[in-house]
Amino acid sequence: MLKQLKRGSILLFVLIMIIATFSGCTSAPASQATSSETASQTETVQTTEAGVHFTSGTYSGEAKGKESTIAVNVTFSDDAITDIEIVGAGETAGIGDEALEKVKSQIIQYQSLNIDAVSGATETSNGLIEAVSSAVEQAGGNEAVAKLQAAEVPEVVGETLSLDADVVVIGAGASGVSAAVSAADEGAKVILIEKTATIGGASNLSWAGKFYNSSVALESGVQVEVEKEISDWIVNNHWRVDAAAIRQYVTQSGATYDWLASKGYQTTFINFFGEQLHMLPAYETRQGLLRTMLADSVEAGGGAVYTETTGKSLMTDDQGNVVGVIAKQADGTVLEISAKSVVMATGGYAANAEMVKELFGFEGINGGLGQNVGEGLEMAWAVGAKVPDNIGGQMLHQTLARATSDLKEQYSDFEASYPLMTAYLPNFMNVGPSGARFRDETATLTAVAAANTSAFNGPFHYVIISASQLKALEAQGMNGVSAPSLPGMPPEFYVTFRDQFALDTPWSNVQEVFDAMVADGNGYKGDTPEELAQNAGMDVEVFKEAFDQYQEAIQSGVDTAFGKNAAYLTDMGTEGPYYAVIAEINNLGSVGGLLVNTKFEVLDDNRIPIDGLYAVGLESEGVLFNDTYVGNGVGLGYAFTSGRLGGVSAADHALGE
Ligand SMILES: Cc1cc2nc3c(=O)[nH]c(=O)nc-3n(C[C@H](O)[C@H](O)[C@H](O)COP(=O)(O)OP(=O)(O)OC[C@H]3O[C@@H](n4cnc5c(N)ncnc54)[C@H](O)[C@@H]3O)c2cc1C
Repeated sequence: MLKQLKRGSILLFVLIMIIATFSGCTSAPASQATSSETASQTETVQTTEAGVHFTSGTYSGEAKGKESTIAVNVTFSDDAITDIEIVGAGETAGIGDEALEKVKSQIIQYQSLNIDAVSGATETSNGLIEAVSSAVEQAGGNEAVAKLQAAEVPEVVGETLSLDADVVVIGAGASGVSAAVSAADEGAKVILIEKTATIGGASNLSWAGKFYNSSVALESGVQVEVEKEISDWIVNNHWRVDAAAIRQYVTQSGATYDWLASKGYQTTFINFFGEQLHMLPAYETRQGLLRTMLADSVEAGGGAVYTETTGKSLMTDDQGNVVGVIAKQADGTVLEISAKSVVMATGGYAANAEMVKELFGFEGINGGLGQNVGEGLEMAWAVGAKVPDNIGGQMLHQTLARATSDLKEQYSDFEASYPLMTAYLPNFMNVGPSGARFRDETATLTAVAAANTSAFNGPFHYVIISASQLKALEAQGMNGVSAPSLPGMPPEFYVTFRDQFALDTPWSNVQEVFDAMVADGNGYKGDTPEELAQNAGMDVEVFKEAFDQYQEAIQSGVDTAFGKNAAYLTDMGTEGPYYAVIAEINNLGSVGGLLVNTKFEVLDDNRIPIDGLYAVGLESEGVLFNDTYVGNGVGLGYAFTSGRLGGVSAADHALGE
């Protein structure tokens, strides 16, 4: 855990600050004073690696980023990189685009490939660096690459600024923005700090949130019976949840819909199989809308928003009350922010593989934000916050096929998504890593059930498909295997092939695509079940027994092992080849880490509030669930609602109300 830094230790802290060079402020500071003890030494330094020679001209390079291939044209003089043009990249809008621009500027400014990845966009940053490296190699050979990889980025020792506010919010995801806005609306002077350059966190990547019995849901004639919902929720989580927190969410989240709409963040109601979901505004507009909310409330109220500013530790007084935050900006500046209330909205630890492994035992894919590594939890635990008993909970809500990204390099998005779609259909046999069948595959129709039933077996499972099933898909699309419905994947998975995403679209080329999957090392093939098991590293006997039993179920229409409906026991034929698709579980975030009461005050080991410390969003969401997130839309619904309510509590505390 991070050691608590108190005011007296700030000077020591500043001495070890290392740099980058871009300003982290998006707006003028609310009130600030340069620490009199620390002289400002912030200065942009440009270096050129001596002795690097290029054959001048423009060279192309490309490398894989997070979502796409990043292609660049790099222009060289005899001894320097003079320009980088990004000619192709489809990285995550917002986070990815900003990272590309930042890394590109730094490579040119420092004439170095030794650039730190931008927080939250590691794969994108490294992809760009690799693409530029390839151009450097063409212009100057391996020697030039080696020199630029070794070229030091100059260190800058930052100054210390002392700021003050009524409320500091750490993290600008849905929960942090909501907390900052609602606290400011209560009359508090608020400072919001955010580690990355992006406002909105995971909400920028999400689809829809659940606001119970919102005005629009009721107008649409969809009403949830509150008491039943609450009691079902409690029972489904084995009673080991905070009933008061659940009641608060179920009864108060409806108002969040109107609150967001009144601020210009208009969500759209959808009756999703009886669930009251509200789709967020268009992806490309979200960050702008949240920034407007912050401008209208936080900045208009005399507060400020600092991006590229990372919360490092909490300040406490001699009674242990939380009285502020110490943060570090991307340019090395240290902010010492005094405040009466601090709201932790840092989004959990899912990107910290070690923590996830230790606390959950899970080694799946992190589909959440790369910068959420548990810093907020460490800060809070360091000042005495309780580590909850259900600390390990994760948001396992999606299934991925390992093959998709490589196949997208070779095939259209629709074709590349064939293996992925099979993971969302109940018509195929599913087995765990050992080869044992582990569920009624009907679970694949519900994303959260699909992910959690698989996770019990580890981080992945196999979807088994036969040659005759591929032929049926090729001839008649998903109708060929009697798929009951379209795969229930998140809409962003099929946004680029919406027109082809239909049950009757033939899966042309499907055998070739599956063979490419195997050639890429992202799936397996065998002419017989035994050969498939052998190639996939399963226990051959275990798989063969499960396979034979499944064939009997297909023939008899009775699945004695798991009770799958006969309609989904799709014929597999009697001949190979057989394929195994590697289906992995995508973890969207850790759920919980701080216990809170219904005022969102963080509790200590005796379950007594730590004065001045609040937590919202994923950091406190463990109060709603036992060991597993079982919601649909609760992630967003709780983030916005806990932020809206927690911000009011934090402001009331700060303003003495
Ligand atoms: C791909 C994806 C799809 C999803 N789809 C849905 C959906 O459709 N419906 C749904 O309900 N939920 C969905 N979720 C979950 C939902 O997005 C989250 O539960 C919710 O947005 C979390 O909000 P938050 O504010 O708690 O955390 P985050 O959005 O993670 O925000 C935390 C913020 O804190 C910042 N931060 C971290 N550490 C520090 C630090 N030390 N100092 C300063 N800042 C820091 C981060 O940069 C980040 O901006 C999805 C999640 C993902 C990843």
